[in-house]
Amino acid sequence: MPRYDLTGKVALVTGAASGIGKATAIRLAKEGANLALGDLKDLSELCDSLKNYGVKVVALKLDVSDYSSCESFYKSALSELCVERVDILVNNAGINRDSLFVKMSFEQWDDVIKVDLYSMFNMTKQVVPKMLENSWGRIVNVSSISWLGNIGQANYSAAKAGVIGFTKTLARELAKHGITVNAVCPGFIDTPMTRAVPEKIREMILSRIPMKRIGNPEEVASVIAFLCSDDASYITGEVIGVTGGLVL
Ligand code: NAP
Repeated sequence: MPRYDLTGKVALVTGAASGIGKATAIRLAKEGANLALGDLKDLSELCDSLKNYGVKVVALKLDVSDYSSCESFYKSALSELCVERVDILVNNAGINRDSLFVKMSFEQWDDVIKVDLYSMFNMTKQVVPKMLENSWGRIVNVSSISWLGNIGQANYSAAKAGVIGFTKTLARELAKHGITVNAVCPGFIDTPMTRAVPEKIREMILSRIPMKRIGNPEEVASVIAFLCSDDASYITGEVIGVTGGLVL
């Protein structure tokens, strides 16, 4: 049963093959949005299953760290969906390459900054001009509670803090044009990204979560769906934690 009616809207979700991006794609399809999905990984199975919700879906290879990949992805998605614009952008794709700073290689730093921060510019730059023409848009950027600083994540924390600054600035610039820009900060969510965390560290993080459980991707997707809807029409520049109470 849809809660936030997005019927007829076109939503673009990056990193849609897995975890939070996949849950978001499913949730937005349930809300009636047509979808442009991008990921490094193949999305054909997800694409077929989402068509059962009666929405149009196009799924294409995308590297969010590469401006020209974002440019051609956007053009191809519009043409395959036969639409002139994207109404909703969820900048979700992200990676982590954790290491204490003294051991962190330039490559670990560079990879994370490119995928988690450059992606914000690369993808948002595509969608904003047509949102401005239409005087309506929703942009949701996936940051992380780690933006506050977390041992072993100098690269990731820097990128995710950058996402917050980017979000708040764009929110101010675009507010008068009917475009809202918000960030969600997941805490510890059960996805392939966190399944790679060693058991000892998982236990330590779990002990610090007041709700005493790891979150699931659908719990993040529901906040994203809300922020994409008209129900969130007076919310912009906000940073919303989805953490079960976890504070770093
Ligand atoms: P995930 O399960 O690893 O999914 C991320 C998806 O993005 C993967 O399919 C990944 O493909 C794809 N991707 C990676 N690099 C890409 C690129 N350059 N271009 C396009 N797609 C790319 O991770 P997740 O946990 O759902 O994370 C989603 C977002 O939430 C990320 O921004 C992450 O930082 C954030 N987040 C997650 C948590 C958490 O606890 N899980 C907490 C805070 C924030 P590959 O697998 O091939 O790399």
